[in-house]
Amino acid sequence: MPAPIRYVQDSVHFPDSADVVVIGAGIAGAAATYELAKRGVKVVLLEKGLVGGEQSSRNWGWCRQQNRDERELPLIIYALRRWGELAQESGEDLGFRRTGLVYATRDQSEINDWDRWGKMAKSYGVRSDILNAEQAKAMTPGSSTDWRGGVSSPDDGYAEPSLAAPGLALAAQRLGAQLFQQCAVRGLDIAAGRVSGVWTERGLIKTSSVLCAGGAWTSLFCRRHGIALPLGNVIGTACRTAPITQVITQPMYTPGFACRPRQDGSYTVSVSGRGRLAPGIQALRYARQFYPTFKARRKHLSLCFGLSPFFNGPETWARWQFDGLSPFEKIRILDPQPDMAMVYEGIAAMQREYPALAGLRLVQAWGGMIDSTPDAIPVISSVPALPGLVISAGFSAHGFGIGPGAGRLAADIVLNDDPVVDPTPFRYTRLVDGSDLNAPGMM
Ligand SMILES: Cc1cc2nc3c(=O)[nH]c(=O)nc-3n(C[C@H](O)[C@H](O)[C@H](O)COP(=O)(O)OP(=O)(O)OC[C@H]3O[C@@H](n4cnc5c(N)ncnc54)[C@H](O)[C@@H]3O)c2cc1C
Repeated sequence: MPAPIRYVQDSVHFPDSADVVVIGAGIAGAAATYELAKRGVKVVLLEKGLVGGEQSSRNWGWCRQQNRDERELPLIIYALRRWGELAQESGEDLGFRRTGLVYATRDQSEINDWDRWGKMAKSYGVRSDILNAEQAKAMTPGSSTDWRGGVSSPDDGYAEPSLAAPGLALAAQRLGAQLFQQCAVRGLDIAAGRVSGVWTERGLIKTSSVLCAGGAWTSLFCRRHGIALPLGNVIGTACRTAPITQVITQPMYTPGFACRPRQDGSYTVSVSGRGRLAPGIQALRYARQFYPTFKARRKHLSLCFGLSPFFNGPETWARWQFDGLSPFEKIRILDPQPDMAMVYEGIAAMQREYPALAGLRLVQAWGGMIDSTPDAIPVISSVPALPGLVISAGFSAHGFGIGPGAGRLAADIVLNDDPVVDPTPFRYTRLVDGSDLNAPGMM
């Protein structure tokens, strides 16, 4: 079942040319479109389904620096600042609130990890306060567990996934960007070895610059053009409760559940770090690159087998021409089944922890297909083999919070402007040139 989402209207006149075409209207594509439009660029945003209809409306909404890999810190620091600015300048409610986040645990090794991370993050100016048992209790009023400790990151917060990508797409339209939904891009038009346009289901748009922000579909899109992009797709699950007394007022992680208060008095609930892997052609093709990450994370992953990934969806082995139906049109909105056992487990853990939430009622659960890279760091980068193509994908389950930063960096790269942060950690080539990728940091 799709997560709640604000609806955005399409533009009217379908163009035959543009300065830049952005593929995919999740948070990465919508934020980049906004930044490009703001700089006066003639930009067209194309979405095969609905703005924000895939991962960007299905996530928990956490916008956090806490526990980020060091390679992402400069970009997330910028992104958090940008969330605050966008709330003002875009004229749209993106649901951003700088509430702080709190993590609580009875496990000393988790506290040690947070402590180590906090010392590293401090050198970037990030605030992360280790909590002793009393402080953890005080930060989680009404909870039953006697925590051993926790961590609080007061400068983090959340935004509203049902509002953020749609709000940015609307704001971009007001700045002159054009948006078309139900309009899949089937492939790139290439002339003299560089991008010269995009083939859409509504015809050709001529352009010399394409930003592909297609989330879980990006690897398939690239494969059609002979570009290897190692992405592994993992299904995450979350749910929404009915409104109830908001005893938890900021995003909270415990070993049993993770939750975020929603503006209507309900909660988004999940179980931290869990995902399901449905092996398909991509998983097989890039198994060697993913093996170290899989080994490190396998206790959090369950496997679900079925033949469908091979025939439909982002892992299909289908081939297609640009004048006929493509895999992107066959599934307008990727809507994987949620893991209901995990949903009930998370709700029950929350009720046990907070007696005041005994009456907590589940309203809706959903799955979301997460695109991960082998080092869990996104690709925000040009592709040397195909001038004119820039990729922004592989956000590895933490791309919502960093979205406004990713949008800005992608716009800088597309326009060849000075990048807002050093783009080196996000370069495409690291995934294919044998670079040592390092183990993924905390996520
Ligand atoms: C359960 C869950 C919880 C999460 N929690 C968090 C969190 O708390 N904080 C956080 O930071 N991140 C979180 N994430 C991750 C976050 O949601 C993603 O990293 C982020 O939304 C990715 O944004 P995106 O724009 O790259 O991809 P998407 O939102 O998936 O958007 C890609 C879009 O491209 C479109 N598209 C693809 N191919 C084509 C084509 N050929 N033509 C036209 N359109 C195309 C798709 O239809 C889609 O709308 C979570 C994810 C899940 C599933």
